[in-house]
Amino acid sequence: MDRRTTSVRVTNNERPARTNNRVQIEQKPVNKAGRQKLNTTTKDKDNQSTLNTPNKKRERETVKQKPRLKIIPLGGLDSIGKNMTVFEYGHDMIIVDAGLMFPGDDHPGVDLILPDYTYILENSSRLRAILITHGHEDHTGALPYLLKDLDLANVVIMSSKLTLGLIEGKFKEHRIENARFREVQAGDHVAIGSFGCDFFSVNHSIPDSMGIFIRTPVGNVLHTGDFKLDQTPIDGVHTDFAAISRFAKAGVDLMLSDSTNANIPSFTKSEAEVGKALKQIISSTDKRVIVASFASHIHRIQQVFDAAIATGRKVAVTGRSMLTNTKIAREMGYLKVDEHDFFDAYSAKEIPPDRIVVLCTGSQGEPLSALSRMANGEHRTIEVEDGDTVIISATPVPGNEIDITRVINALSKTGARVYDKQEALVHVSGHAGAEELKLMLTIAQPKYFMPIHGEARHLRAHADLARNVGIPKKNIFILEIGDTLLLDETGIVIGEPVESGVVYVDGLSVGDISNVVLKDRQTLSQDGIVTVVCIIRKKDYHLIGRPEIIMRGVVGGDDQRLVEELVSLAEYTISSFAPFQRHNPSSLKRALREEISGLLWEQCHRRPMIIPLIMEA
Ligand SMILES: [Zn+2]
Ligand SMILES: [Zn+2]
Repeated sequence: MDRRTTSVRVTNNERPARTNNRVQIEQKPVNKAGRQKLNTTTKDKDNQSTLNTPNKKRERETVKQKPRLKIIPLGGLDSIGKNMTVFEYGHDMIIVDAGLMFPGDDHPGVDLILPDYTYILENSSRLRAILITHGHEDHTGALPYLLKDLDLANVVIMSSKLTLGLIEGKFKEHRIENARFREVQAGDHVAIGSFGCDFFSVNHSIPDSMGIFIRTPVGNVLHTGDFKLDQTPIDGVHTDFAAISRFAKAGVDLMLSDSTNANIPSFTKSEAEVGKALKQIISSTDKRVIVASFASHIHRIQQVFDAAIATGRKVAVTGRSMLTNTKIAREMGYLKVDEHDFFDAYSAKEIPPDRIVVLCTGSQGEPLSALSRMANGEHRTIEVEDGDTVIISATPVPGNEIDITRVINALSKTGARVYDKQEALVHVSGHAGAEELKLMLTIAQPKYFMPIHGEARHLRAHADLARNVGIPKKNIFILEIGDTLLLDETGIVIGEPVESGVVYVDGLSVGDISNVVLKDRQTLSQDGIVTVVCIIRKKDYHLIGRPEIIMRGVVGGDDQRLVEELVSLAEYTISSFAPFQRHNPSSLKRALREEISGLLWEQCHRRPMIIPLIMEA
């Protein structure tokens, strides 16, 4: 499989527009000429003194010889998900995060979306390590695919204990063996080639989340990872303000920071608040309680257990990913639950309803998840009954709202009382709101700033916050994937973009869905399909009998009058075609397609897929 031809690079179309933008940005000193100019006119005191020393020529050459640090985001800027950033200095390259994204409604049949990491594959000889900030799939999910494509099992994957545990679990599913893991913890300093990396703890919705301070000979970069500033975190691990101020003292040249909630104008509430709401709802009923959440939200899972135990209940876990993650997190000591607080979902019927909490997957309305199955009465062990309580302890990922509403309605029909975050504080975000982001900016005091992890509107909002706290507009870079920032002692400029885009994963095959296939699926799902069957006499291309028109999923396709019209049109097309283009079935097919498509557009404003079947007799 050739990734270059089969992967779909959505951003390629946007390149010309981006080049135009870049020209504007490049009015600041940018390329070689600009950089030299900057060297001699710099306002930086140190550099000025350099220029005034007798050895200035030699020293300037030394400065020139130092390579520039390249920062290349390959994902995470066009959407929330598939986070991946490349850092390159001289002959050394490290990657921070390798995530995936789950597709929305506009990608029918696609299972996953990965960043196009062709650039990494083409420069893999320089790759020294992959650093992962935390265990969420939008930061780890591309790893199995990247590792298989890299063909070098020896690249080191560096992260915290829980994150590596979750990655190892995923690798087992993908049958990846012999991966090299190196466990680090907050507070560790690791030298990787020319990079010096300091890991520091941040507070997020999964334990063991970290940010990374990356030192290079030409400047330092602070990468926050996903974070919030929860002052009452349930595992007691705070975002390490002291470490961040130490980095500020050392000098943060560039900061990359999480923009997910940049347009929410406040502090994000503490995870501890959710625990109170869960306890209150659970204690207010003597029937069963079913809680759906993200399988990766280990803090939330802990809180569900805590609330259940506090109200005298035991917990059954159901849903594959929920079972896997609960098991891994318990084994590693991140989930503190006793064996006797569990019960097997198979024995649910034998336990009184006021002794039961069911923890399951399906908070996004996924059709095959545990919650959807329960809602439709198809779950193997749990049946939702009249009076049961269902808590959706999550937020809808954009694009999933319709699916969730469908599940909530199905649950309501069974007589269940459904709580979601609209009705009670059963979910808080794991990402910092605007006030926290400003606080992070003021503590870290970066010279340059690049918002990451968000759609265009989030990045823009975060850039505005940075300006509010005093970072000049010219020092803020809103990039697109594939863009390159070049950092050296003289400052930051935008460099040449690299190949980038997205790769669709359908089932187990990677990158083999072309845009054409996607377009076909979209046509089929939205406009339906029309088959035109005709039998033609071989010797003179005359029609035998009447053509048959079969329509499926076409709006208005059940209208007999329309069908008649299409049959007549097909007859007419074939009869007017026969005298001129004998024995040329492919051009007859094209003619049929065009004529029928034209009529359908005229009559129903639809463009279904049209498949002419011509049989010769
Ligand atoms: Zn996360
Ligand atoms: Zn994330």
